[in-house]
Amino acid sequence: MKCIVIGGGIIGLSSAYFLQQSGWEVTVIDKGDFSNNCSYGNAGYVCPSHFVPMATPGIVKQGLKWMLDPESPFYVKPRLSMDLVNWGLKFVRSANAAHVERSAIPLRDIAILSKRAYEAWFSQTGLDAGYEEKGLLDIFQLPQNEAHAHHTVEKAQELGLDAVYLDAAQVQAMEPQTELNIHGAVYFKCDAHLYPNKLMHSLLEYLHEKQVRFVPGETVTGFERQHGRISRVKTSKAVYDCDTVVIATGSWSREMAALLDVDLPMAAGRGYSVTYENAPYTLNHPAILMEGRVAITPMDGNKIRFGGTMEITSLNAPPNMNRVKGILKTVQRYIPAYNIPMPPKEQIWFGYRPCSADGLPYIGRLRKTENCILATGHSMLGLSLGAGTGKLVCELANEQPTSMDIKPFSPERF
Ligand SMILES: Cc1cc2nc3c(=O)[nH]c(=O)nc-3n(C[C@H](O)[C@H](O)[C@H](O)COP(=O)(O)OP(=O)(O)OC[C@H]3O[C@@H](n4cnc5c(N)ncnc54)[C@H](O)[C@@H]3O)c2cc1C
Repeated sequence: MKCIVIGGGIIGLSSAYFLQQSGWEVTVIDKGDFSNNCSYGNAGYVCPSHFVPMATPGIVKQGLKWMLDPESPFYVKPRLSMDLVNWGLKFVRSANAAHVERSAIPLRDIAILSKRAYEAWFSQTGLDAGYEEKGLLDIFQLPQNEAHAHHTVEKAQELGLDAVYLDAAQVQAMEPQTELNIHGAVYFKCDAHLYPNKLMHSLLEYLHEKQVRFVPGETVTGFERQHGRISRVKTSKAVYDCDTVVIATGSWSREMAALLDVDLPMAAGRGYSVTYENAPYTLNHPAILMEGRVAITPMDGNKIRFGGTMEITSLNAPPNMNRVKGILKTVQRYIPAYNIPMPPKEQIWFGYRPCSADGLPYIGRLRKTENCILATGHSMLGLSLGAGTGKLVCELANEQPTSMDIKPFSPERF
């Protein structure tokens, strides 16, 4: 049985991994050359702690305030686009307490499924990604955020996640090498991290060895359909027969779904990162600087990555380096000794998070095209949920019961 996976990011490769293992003949097609996409330069968190979706009460008001600051961590680039308006309206409607409450268990469950799948990969298959279980510090600076931090710890513990509140001195004791200017932190011991570039290279090598076929440099442009099924996938250069198709095209998935008459609310959330090797900037633990929305990850022994910003923008708008200045200034506010100079452009990475309209991924079969599985829209969590998504995709392809209830992730829920 032949499966075509469209998209060679972490979601596509994880799907290919499980499909190949269960006996499918897998071809992965990508318009790029498999060497860069959103799955490379991200912060590398594998984080059950992220059980709160992007659409939360208060985010809209906060977002509007941030819009006025060119170095802020959030920005919606105004443009005349019905798709953006459609996504925005659905996002605003989802940003409420009931949605946050409903999303916690599905997000926790898929994150745990994924973390277990990663653990199995790294302990049993020879895949290597510099995976470490050191937890994640959600550090905050403003005393008024302490109550929220305590509430987060309570909620995490209710969900069975290992999280504790730490005051500034306790965090400082975990990071004795440099002075921190902070008020406290939530320490999510349940989280892990890895070096995404290493994960992607390792997966590509492993899948090549397992005879998965890779087709670089071909854009999927259409599908041939017969009796509610895709029979062939058309690219810019060729046509491929298939029994099942997985669409894992990240921020480009709205266009793919439209080819199958499905309206998929999706926005591209651009983020930036800078990675240093053997730098004087060090942290023992991955950390999120909460008010500034900056992620810091010590990776792979001798590297450290600073990343952040959510710029809702078109996929061809030029990058805005002021956002990187904003990231580095935020770092210095929390860690005064880290006066990191603005790096040259070539050192700055950016990628497009595939943002669904409610912060939950889209995973499931399409109603009117039954041999097509959509796996996208993971927003800020694609790396964390990657291996778990691949497992769910494979279960769907094999018409097996899924490891968890995936109704909340239905691609046609809006
Ligand atoms: C700064 C930053 C930090 C982040 N940190 C984290 C983190 O710590 N943890 C976490 O879980 N997530 C994080 N994320 C989010 C995560 O990186 C994404 O959710 C994830 O990489 C999305 O993976 P994907 O496979 O869906 O998409 P992508 O990696 O973008 O892959 C999609 C692929 O589809 C291909 N494609 C698109 N259209 C077509 C077509 N028509 N034909 C053929 N190929 C096509 C593209 O070329 C691309 O290679 C972060 C993101 C950013 C920007």
